[in-house]
Amino acid sequence: MTGPALSIHEVSKTFANGVRALDGVSLTVERGERIAILGRSGSGKSTLLRLVNGLERPTSGLVSVNGTHVTAQNARSIRRQVGMVFQQFNLVPSLSVTANVLCGRLAYRTWLTSLLFVFPESDHELAARAIDDVGLNGRNWDRVDRLSGGQQQRVAIARTLVQEASIILADEPVASLDPAISEEILSLLCEQAVRRSATLVMNLHQVDLACKYADRIVGLRMGKVVFDMPASELGKAETALLYDS
Ligand code: ADP
Ligand code: MG
Repeated sequence: MTGPALSIHEVSKTFANGVRALDGVSLTVERGERIAILGRSGSGKSTLLRLVNGLERPTSGLVSVNGTHVTAQNARSIRRQVGMVFQQFNLVPSLSVTANVLCGRLAYRTWLTSLLFVFPESDHELAARAIDDVGLNGRNWDRVDRLSGGQQQRVAIARTLVQEASIILADEPVASLDPAISEEILSLLCEQAVRRSATLVMNLHQVDLACKYADRIVGLRMGKVVFDMPASELGKAETALLYDS
């Protein structure tokens, strides 16, 4: 594949209630980049990621993944290219680690597989490998609601890995976790993205974590990009743009 992983061109999003969540956002993300999007609550970070994985449509402007407009693709096609990790993990609590991870394979399987929840051996092998990769080997058949928050986020990461998506989005992936666990989860996410040459876009609200784990930082304020720069160059002036009133 050639061209950028992700291209967002002059995108605006106004919700039915009149809230303009994004206002003329343009952003190009090259393959293998690791980006953090920083901004206050309500600045439009989640809306931006939801436009990339097709959960929302732009009011105007274009969003392309791997060179194809998101609006021209069906949900299954997007799922094969874009994985998402959420703040609240979004697992099925009563199911096992393995069953939750297998859900990441649904984009590749028929409706009958989804109905019967019977996956081929190759999917089970992929799931077992991903569970191992996130450090949960031995917990494969535990119910996820018996796991700690950090372990649950590991399951969600494994589910994204078996999607074999080239773009991984993470919406405040550590906002529900302790500081020490947050670092473990972010370093796991980055390590796995690098190993798979995947592009990683993370919404974060801690500036220190963004600088430590991303190579590029995009600042959003009231739906607009207020800076876009290498993490190593981010200074007080930029963070003031985001957080000073
Ligand atoms: P962030 O993730 O940075 O906190 P969001 O993208 O969730 O920001 O929200 C941006 C703005 O859009 C906020 O004012 C929020 O209330 C509004 N918003 C988000 N989703 C919806 C929706 N489905 N309907 C109406 N307003 C929404
Ligand atoms: Mg959000």
